[in-house]
Amino acid sequence: MDKYTALQTYFGHDAFREGQESLVDALLSGRDALGIMPTGAGKSVCYQLPALLLEGVTLVISPLIALMKDQVSALVQNGIPAAYLNSSLSAGQQAEVLRRAQQGAYRLIYVAPERLLTERFLAFVRTAPIAMVTVDEAHCISQWGQDFRPSYLDIRTLIDALPTRPVVSAFTATATEQVQQDIIRLLDLRQPCLVRTSFDRKNLFFGVQTVTKGEKEDAMLGFLARHKGESGIIYCISRKAVEEVCLTLQNLGLPATRYHAGLSQEERQRNQTEFLYDRAAIMVATNAFGMGIDKSNVSFVLHYNMPQNLESYYQEAGRAGRDGTPAECMLLYGKGDIMTNKFLLMTNKFLLARNRDDADGVDEATAELLYRRNLSKLNRMADYCSGTRCLRKDLLTYFGEQTEGESCGNCSYCLSGYRTVDRTVEAQKLLSCVLRIRQRGYRPAQALVWDCLRGISSEAVMQLRLSDLSTFGLLREMREEELNALRDILITYGYLSVEGTALPILTVTERARALLRGQRTLSVRVPPDPVGRQAAVTVSPEQMQALKAVRTRLAKRAGVPAFVICSDATLIDLCVKRPHTRAELLRVKGIGVAKADKYGSELLAAVRQLDREP
Ligand code: ADP
Ligand code: ZN
Repeated sequence: MDKYTALQTYFGHDAFREGQESLVDALLSGRDALGIMPTGAGKSVCYQLPALLLEGVTLVISPLIALMKDQVSALVQNGIPAAYLNSSLSAGQQAEVLRRAQQGAYRLIYVAPERLLTERFLAFVRTAPIAMVTVDEAHCISQWGQDFRPSYLDIRTLIDALPTRPVVSAFTATATEQVQQDIIRLLDLRQPCLVRTSFDRKNLFFGVQTVTKGEKEDAMLGFLARHKGESGIIYCISRKAVEEVCLTLQNLGLPATRYHAGLSQEERQRNQTEFLYDRAAIMVATNAFGMGIDKSNVSFVLHYNMPQNLESYYQEAGRAGRDGTPAECMLLYGKGDIMTNKFLLMTNKFLLARNRDDADGVDEATAELLYRRNLSKLNRMADYCSGTRCLRKDLLTYFGEQTEGESCGNCSYCLSGYRTVDRTVEAQKLLSCVLRIRQRGYRPAQALVWDCLRGISSEAVMQLRLSDLSTFGLLREMREEELNALRDILITYGYLSVEGTALPILTVTERARALLRGQRTLSVRVPPDPVGRQAAVTVSPEQMQALKAVRTRLAKRAGVPAFVICSDATLIDLCVKRPHTRAELLRVKGIGVAKADKYGSELLAAVRQLDREP
């Protein structure tokens, strides 16, 4: 099987994303590789696909014990045999995994770094055909990274213990030069194929809001009001803050749950599952939560406190919008956050040195060195929060990336020049025009509506005799792009829906009644000077709701979280592409052969249902 067929068959992707193919090619040809890509860029495919095609088994070293199970079950869902080895398995279970592995039952085995040098594991790797060693979250090996894990240094020892040297690949979302050098040196990567993709996540809005202690809660509630019904994460600095914030939200009837290291293993697992399955849409957590979380429909990440460094911030914020749909990352910055963080760094220094005999402890001098580095990272973080320049540009510069232009147009700094204007009247005119055309018995195609509103006597307008409509020429002063922008906002607020992409037909929704009657107003943020807005997704909330219900049903049946069945991006693509055959279904983003086999008939039935109820 070639790599393209494998990509389509096992992962359901039509094409490689930026950077993926070079990494896959390098690994397939036996060359080491280092992939530095932001969260959500698609690092997993870069090693999972070669693991499928290479002769022998791939070991994936990952610090994420709690999440290995999910990663493995996602692979198995895609028809790829895989297993994991960590302390959550009994000795008997581990022996069983190794026995089956010996017989070649798996393509990939996920291993915790602490397992690597155990007798049993070493005995296994000395006789098993190891094709590749993949190091996930590879920055953990560096003292310049934000999560130094001394046990990562064992990886090199493991590789050296193998009878033949396997291909070695490493992946991280931490992009600073020092970390990159450390990974190459400490893992002994040999002339690695180095791929660094852009860290820009265009679908993420970045914001900083400076607040006093007393204003924080209101700022959070205001933020959540704008994200009603959506799924998101709220990061807090301490366990105590998590408890307080979570309680506040629950008392307000919001579907919040919590996660921090002070909870029992069972409760953490349970709460995380509640969040992953969308039963609790809001996760309030410390930074203990989220590494490796691949929930695709996270619409916002709110930082209730400033994190310790930009690496952590970008990684945590990056958990929003993994499916490419617009998402908001907001940081509530209080001056007290600096003091609290300094205190935490200090405590951490003492703990590290005190535990120097443990797998993940260090000596005193190293602890002091790490402390100084962390302190300067903290100052840099506070500098980001000062809000004196484009936030995206600042983040990307920090990660060593050149950016064009002065303003990104999608962060709180760049949008601060925006004005809020009332667009109620324009919206009423647009919606009435759609209704009037319908009353005459015609299907209001967008182009026709625009002609009527702008008072253009086009051929279609003349033929259908629409120039005597009461709404004819009511928005003469608006340009086509302005009408499109207004349309996008009306769709976002659920006042208007659009069917069809080639010839979009406009429909006024039930919700729009209140706006038409003047019981509701519509205000819009407009840029200081006219710049193009991003086109919004042309899928109605009703259609998404219907598809999500089908996904929930499938997820329940399979006993997996909804996003394992498919991402929101897949649902949107289903709405847009409207597949009616299996072949068409396979062209939808994220649907491979395994998923088409398992869920194909239900998904096709759901699309047929959509066709019946526009
Ligand atoms: P990372 O590990 O870099 O944070 P993941 O490997 O978890 O990212 O991938 C993020 C998302 O992108 C997943 O939902 C995955 O299915 C999707 N994805 C990865 N590669 C592709 C591709 N070539 N085409 C479309 N979607 C992809
Ligand atoms: Zn900006």
